[in-house]
Amino acid sequence: MNYAAPVVVLTTGTFLAGKVFVGEESYGAGRFGDPPSVGLADMLRGLGLPMGRLKTGTPPRLARKSIDFSRLEEQPGDDPPVPFSFMNDRIATPQVSCHITYTNPRTHDAIRENLSRSPLYAGRIEGVGPRYCPSIEDKVVRFSERERHQIFLEPTTLSGEEYYPNGVSTSLPYDVQYKMLRTINGLENVSISRPGYAIEYDFINPCALKYSLELKDVAGLFFAGQINGSSGYEEAAAQGLVAGVNAALLVRGREPFIIRRDQAYIGVLIDDLISRGVTEPYRMFTSRAEYRLLLREDNADLRLTPLGRDIGLVGDARFRRFEARREAIEAEVRRLDGTMLKTGPETDEKLAAIGTAALRKPASLAVLVSRPELGYDATASIDPERGELPDDVRSEVETQIVYRGYLDRQEEEARRLLAADRVRIPGRIRLRRGARPLPRDPRHPFPRPTRVPRSTRTHPRHHPRRHEQHLPVLERARRAGA
Ligand SMILES: Cc1cc2nc3c(=O)[nH]c(=O)nc-3n(C[C@H](O)[C@H](O)[C@H](O)COP(=O)(O)OP(=O)(O)OC[C@H]3O[C@@H](n4cnc5c(N)ncnc54)[C@H](O)[C@@H]3O)c2cc1C
Repeated sequence: MNYAAPVVVLTTGTFLAGKVFVGEESYGAGRFGDPPSVGLADMLRGLGLPMGRLKTGTPPRLARKSIDFSRLEEQPGDDPPVPFSFMNDRIATPQVSCHITYTNPRTHDAIRENLSRSPLYAGRIEGVGPRYCPSIEDKVVRFSERERHQIFLEPTTLSGEEYYPNGVSTSLPYDVQYKMLRTINGLENVSISRPGYAIEYDFINPCALKYSLELKDVAGLFFAGQINGSSGYEEAAAQGLVAGVNAALLVRGREPFIIRRDQAYIGVLIDDLISRGVTEPYRMFTSRAEYRLLLREDNADLRLTPLGRDIGLVGDARFRRFEARREAIEAEVRRLDGTMLKTGPETDEKLAAIGTAALRKPASLAVLVSRPELGYDATASIDPERGELPDDVRSEVETQIVYRGYLDRQEEEARRLLAADRVRIPGRIRLRRGARPLPRDPRHPFPRPTRVPRSTRTHPRHHPRRHEQHLPVLERARRAGA
């Protein structure tokens, strides 16, 4: 394979040998109305890469004017809306509500009567679909006892001419899509602006990639997004960032940029993809991360800005803002830890006034903040030195103090796993008496591990904690040159 650039990042989405299905019709397409990428798929197959077929789908889009909102339940967004970026203090964009409606037994009858016309049930789709966002025909069949399924009607733009009915992804024929939608409360006269469809496409099993998202066997060729078997905007964006950064670092002759599982969900996503491979479209759920207490939305900047700065992705303005926030948080935590309250009637009276028990021995303000009935704001009256701090700093200080015990424990576990990750498992080892051997799971035909698994999810029965008992043995074996 020859390409003119020193490095290439492929992000072909659903286009690689893509095929769209609407009822009995199917044709080559990368998205509704766009041609597929066929030559590239053939060329990648020619490289002998582990490739397969996956499937995803989308609901029909609905014309706003044809929806009767007066019959629907309004779902306003967060108030106030929380900015995604730490560089934004507030969101001034007008907010538009979503609305909720439900399918009903008549909708389900319309679907069941036409299942034979669904490409999924007629067996025309080979690719495996996302288990977690099934089509409405799948939900009606798999959860046949349910009388209704929820639908969120989401405006796709601010002017909201088109609505996305989240929950009714379908590849049923166009006439059946109309029939089922018009049984739904508020959608009795609905017009479809674009039909729903299923799409099947090629993907590369990400086991073929390094952690930098470069192919193990082809230097300089990186893959990111749906081509790696994931599904979803954030999943694709995260991989695009990592592949793009690593492509640039490779050109500059620098070490790859790898984010660990305990540092960010990006680390969990990429570790899962690469160490486990993909048999169905992969979606990132918070439940996939073992260090959920560390991976909080409120501390994303504290975790990741220094990493971004190191690779030249964080400019001065962002870094200054980050440093000011970090310093304000650290200084306030230090102050609360270092400010002691004495025991005595005067303190008891103040504590009684804020509804908390008297002290038996001197305690820091941090200890009082961590009392479940108090928190940061409730301790203001016993803290005369307290200065004015921004809301985000106050809430981060409170989180760090209240959950300190749990956070420290997770950090310690992450440190131990990181140390274990450096230990190679030698070919032959003699176990101490009483130590249990590494369990084998016949459902997972993985080769014998050469490292202690990084993740609790690498092999379902191989929780890293189960391996900790082996670490001293492995370390001795390594030193002995086994
Ligand atoms: C119909 C549908 C609905 C979806 N709905 C949601 C949703 O609601 N929420 C969600 O999180 N995710 C959704 N997804 C999934 C999400 O869109 C994808 O996972 C994500 O966009 C993948 O990003 P990507 O960058 O890998 O590829 P894409 O966003 O698909 O981008 C691929 C790009 O590559 C270009 N391309 C392909 N081949 C070539 C070539 N040979 N030469 C040049 N350019 C090429 C294409 O033109 C396209 O611009 C949906 C997907 C589909 C198909």
